[in-house]
Amino acid sequence: MARLVVMGGGVSGHTAATFAKKWLGNDHEVVVVTPNSLWNWIPSNIWVGVGEMTKEDVTFPLAPVYAKAGIDYRQAKAVSIHPNGGTNSDKPYITIQYTGQGKEGQTEEVAYDYLVNATGPKLNFDATPGLGDGNGQLGSNTVSVCTADHAVHANEELQKIFDKAKTQKQKILVGTGHGMCTCQGAAFEYIFNIEHEARKAGVRDNLDIQWISNESFLGDFGIGGLHMKRGGYAASSRLFAESLYSERGIPWIIGAHVNKVEAGKAHYELLDGSMNEIEFDFAMLIPPFAGVGLKAYDKDGSDMTDQIFAPNGFMKVDANYAAGAYENWKASDWPRTYQNPIYKNMFACGIAFAPPHLISKPMSSPNGTPINPTPPRTGMPSGIIGKTVAHSICDLIKEGPNAHLHEASMAEMGAACVASAGKGLLDGTAAALTVYPVVPDFEKYPGLGRDLDYTFGEIGLAGHWIKHILHHMFIYKAKLNPGWTLIPE
Ligand SMILES: Cc1cc2nc3c(=O)[nH]c(=O)nc-3n(C[C@H](O)[C@H](O)[C@H](O)COP(=O)(O)OP(=O)(O)OC[C@H]3O[C@@H](n4cnc5c(N)ncnc54)[C@H](O)[C@@H]3O)c2cc1C
Repeated sequence: MARLVVMGGGVSGHTAATFAKKWLGNDHEVVVVTPNSLWNWIPSNIWVGVGEMTKEDVTFPLAPVYAKAGIDYRQAKAVSIHPNGGTNSDKPYITIQYTGQGKEGQTEEVAYDYLVNATGPKLNFDATPGLGDGNGQLGSNTVSVCTADHAVHANEELQKIFDKAKTQKQKILVGTGHGMCTCQGAAFEYIFNIEHEARKAGVRDNLDIQWISNESFLGDFGIGGLHMKRGGYAASSRLFAESLYSERGIPWIIGAHVNKVEAGKAHYELLDGSMNEIEFDFAMLIPPFAGVGLKAYDKDGSDMTDQIFAPNGFMKVDANYAAGAYENWKASDWPRTYQNPIYKNMFACGIAFAPPHLISKPMSSPNGTPINPTPPRTGMPSGIIGKTVAHSICDLIKEGPNAHLHEASMAEMGAACVASAGKGLLDGTAAALTVYPVVPDFEKYPGLGRDLDYTFGEIGLAGHWIKHILHHMFIYKAKLNPGWTLIPE
């Protein structure tokens, strides 16, 4: 009997663990180590953050789902990996520290035959002074929608602003809180949902709503932007985004590295090197992401973290990390199997794998400050990669070490993203985008790097309905309800 241990029960890890268990059956063991008792459909946190959904609408308890599936669930966080075993045995293991199940604080060693790292991002608030509290958590100057609890708090603060806006002007700032952030899409959704709710609440005229981001142009989204066929033209996402922001009366600051936040004020450096500040009454700034800080140790206890993880804490996989300058970047730099190059029984999926480099063009200010979006690994790629990795591991277990590994390169994969711009059965809107491939391939698609027949975007009420239906479908699927395997990632 082989044992697969999955660290992280989010979008990617939950997908990997549930498919692996389905394919392996009771002949082999699947263990999930994840610190939360609740599963969270993170994209809908945006709606929690404006009071249109509750925490209960976007979460559900993991324990009964894993019990039903026959998955061994440890409510704990993984702390370290010991790929060569320890003093008493060569068997690889991880150490975990419990956060629930009545064993809070207890540590344990969990041996594995195969290991998946799907620990997602560390929300690195402290990378920007004043964005964090100095202890790794969100500080008191801004709000966040990255977790369901953050989003509940964000809505409480937002409602106070809406109340004040009944009688006085209020300033809202939304965007990215550092020059190296990803996940611009989430901030995009939040700003447009705030704008939509403000109109519904009759307070829009008293709100200055301002966008700030590290993108060098609106609509970059960390993928270097995209082009869509429209009326015989290849229209850019920049045109699309600038038109939407103008239409909704939202001015933008771009190419910005927020380098300090105080109560009511954000300081930022622009790509032209200038230092600026902006005041706010309410701000939601996405933090930069890093790996969650897992350590790796050799058999003798020596630290080998840098062999397994990139400096940003994400796990090294089969990517080309030596691609060098932007001019040399190729689609083939992107990983295909997500297998660790040193330990063939170790894989990383979703946000946890280390990308080879940016997707957007690297930029820095004359002061040498890098200001550019880092690569997003959104829900669909994270789910697809999780399932692909599970497939490979199941084949390795059943067929042996020479089994063919399955592949899912982001440079050969399309992704759909539906970005809410306001919730409402009849007056909601969302921007539905598909992009193929996610990472542009300028050799295969000279010019724009993507296949325009499969890259398109549309904004409207239908997009909102799709987004709402997806919310229910993905939660239905994650609960492993009948037919769950038929719902795509
Ligand atoms: C506000 C917001 C809105 C978004 N909207 C969209 C959207 O509309 N569409 C879209 O495609 N994507 C969206 N995304 C991105 C999407 O949420 C991510 O792509 C996806 O969650 C990544 O999956 P993951 O499994 O890599 O990470 P996660 O889903 O974050 O899962 C990581 C898991 O690992 C656990 N973990 C952390 N540390 C440890 C540890 N030490 N040991 C074990 N487990 C650990 C975490 O608790 C978590 O359960 C959004 C993101 C945000 C923040």
